[in-house]
Amino acid sequence: MLTNYMPVKTFFGENCLIENSKEIAKFGKHAFLVTGKSSAKKSGVLDDLLPILVKNDISYTIFDKIRENPTLDSVHEGAKLLKEAKCDFVIGIGGGSPIDAAKTINLIASNNLSGKEFYQAEKVKKALPLIAIPTTSGTGSEVTPFSVITDMETSRKAGYGNPINFPKVSFLDPKYTVSLPANITRDTAIDALSHLLEGIYSKKRNFINYPILFKGVKLILQNLKPCLLDPTNLKYRENLMLASMYGGIVISQTSTTIQHSIGYPLTTAFGLSHGLANGIAMKPVMKMFYPYLNKELDELFNYVEITRHEFFEWLDQFRMRPQIDLTDDFINEKANEVCKSRNMAINPIKIDFEGVRKLYKKISENISE
Ligand code: NAP
Ligand code: ZN
Repeated sequence: MLTNYMPVKTFFGENCLIENSKEIAKFGKHAFLVTGKSSAKKSGVLDDLLPILVKNDISYTIFDKIRENPTLDSVHEGAKLLKEAKCDFVIGIGGGSPIDAAKTINLIASNNLSGKEFYQAEKVKKALPLIAIPTTSGTGSEVTPFSVITDMETSRKAGYGNPINFPKVSFLDPKYTVSLPANITRDTAIDALSHLLEGIYSKKRNFINYPILFKGVKLILQNLKPCLLDPTNLKYRENLMLASMYGGIVISQTSTTIQHSIGYPLTTAFGLSHGLANGIAMKPVMKMFYPYLNKELDELFNYVEITRHEFFEWLDQFRMRPQIDLTDDFINEKANEVCKSRNMAINPIKIDFEGVRKLYKKISENISE
């Protein structure tokens, strides 16, 4: 038996926010906006959103201190402001970082949580309505119950899922992603590709979603390179955004796997973007899982009409080769950390400390080739 749960009302397409502004007015008279340093402005979201708020007589408080890979301190700072501001609803604007942060800020403020209590589902009883407006095409956070937070004290990044985190409404307008620089366009699309592949890797794989999973992979294969060459082309942007949303819908059912947990330490230790960390792990992870999932993966490769070897060549063209040194000490320490992460339980096979070490070694060889 398979179940599928996707409670987010989504609006997709150019000007979907402007054309459906009445959806926002439903949630109250004071909005709390969570965003990053520049994304809400550069993307053009604020140009569309602020007149809608004014027109509907909705006041707003902006918290724009979320940075890439949101920290525990920043979500507590945001939660304090949200409590003081007494808002009716929350709007997360930006890439996965501000949208994830908006989710956790909301839980902390609504339930008076301290420290890392938001990881414990039993402590969470309520949340304000959340609206999400993505400005990257990668995490799919606008349709997931997940939020990933970094604890700077322990240098650990850890995600959690709680159904209460699903946004009530998401507005996906590809025009908001036109301002993305090439490296972020590439890394976020590779993140979306990871999510789609993890829909197959996960032992919770749910073939109800295979049609969108397969289609999402095809959209990325067909549109990423053209988009990098012609970044203002809205059709390419739209196709990447659709693939990203598909990826979010898929992992909402299946969760993520070692494909994600192996990358977290690469982000905290070396500052690699989330998508790049996933990207350099993609080939070794697929090679490790292929013997166990060849039927499913071959079906995917048949659908996208390339071979597995050609897929690896496609990945190689993006030259994801960060200059990082994965020493034995680093690998030993982080392999241990990865083994303890929640998503290890989702892998299709059991992977022990030695298995994680081997993956890091492979990543190290690949990036120095
Ligand atoms: P991000 O960290 O949200 O943003 C990356 C960079 O892109 C930031 O510098 C941001 O600028 C900039 N940016 C965003 N939109 C822009 C635009 N339209 N134009 C120009 N610059 C723009 O990147 P992300 O990859 O979307 O999110 C990564 C985070 O999401 C990670 O913490 C990851 O672990 C998490 N994640 C969550 C899920 C989930 O299901 N919830 C899934 C996968 C990953 P500013 O900071 O200046 O605004
Ligand atoms: Zn991801």
